[in-house]
Amino acid sequence: MKLSESEALVVFSGGQDSTTCLFWALKRFKKVRTLTFTYGQKHSLEVEMARKIAEDAGVEFDLLDVSFISKIGTSSLTDTSIKMDEEKPEDGVPNTFVPGRNLFFLSVAAVYARERGIRHLVTGVSQTDFSGYPDCRDSFIKSLNVTLNLAMEEQFTIHTPLMWIDKAETWALADRLGVLDLVRTKTLTCYNGVPGDGCGHCPSCKLRNEGLRQYLDSKNR
Ligand code: ZN
Repeated sequence: MKLSESEALVVFSGGQDSTTCLFWALKRFKKVRTLTFTYGQKHSLEVEMARKIAEDAGVEFDLLDVSFISKIGTSSLTDTSIKMDEEKPEDGVPNTFVPGRNLFFLSVAAVYARERGIRHLVTGVSQTDFSGYPDCRDSFIKSLNVTLNLAMEEQFTIHTPLMWIDKAETWALADRLGVLDLVRTKTLTCYNGVPGDGCGHCPSCKLRNEGLRQYLDSKNR
C-alpha cells in the first residue's frame, strides 16, 4: 500500500507533551489527525480536554478503547487502590508505569494509520523523562518501528520530537510553536486530574511545573 508522505497521525492524550507534538506536526505535515486512547485511566476529563484541543486546532480526533491493558497489567494510574509512587523506586520503574501502554498504543496507531494511508506516526515520549519508563526510550521506539514495518510490510516513520529534550526545553518548543499559553492552560498532565498547572504535588505536576519555572527563568534572564 502506498502511504501518504504528507499526513501524520499524532498519538494524543491532551497532556503537555502530546499537545506540543500536535503543534509540531501541524508545522511539518499538510494533514494531521489525532488518535486518543482510553485505557482505564482514572480521569475521563483528560479525554474531553484532548477532544477540545483537537477541535480548536481543526484536526480530526478519534478515540479508541484499549482498556484491556489495565485488566491484564497493574498500574497506580488505572487502579485506585494502589498508592502512587512519588519517587522512582531504587529497584525498578514507579507504579505509575502502565505495562505495554506505548507498545499497544503505537501498534494500534500503526494499524489505524495504515488503514487511512498515513505513513507518519508522532508520539510525545521522552527518554529524558524522570521516571525511566522503558517504553519511552529511543531504543524501544526504533525497535518497534522496525517491527511494525515488518509486521505490515510498510515504511512507517515514528517521530519523537521530545525524545532528547527535558521539560524546560519542551516548554521552549511550545513557545517557539506559539502555543505556550494554550499548552499551559488547556492541557492536563496531572496524575490527580487537575487541568492546567495541576495539583502541584504529584510527580507529573512537579516535573511539569519545575520545567516551566526553569524555562520562564531562563527567558527572563
Ligand atoms: Zn498533579
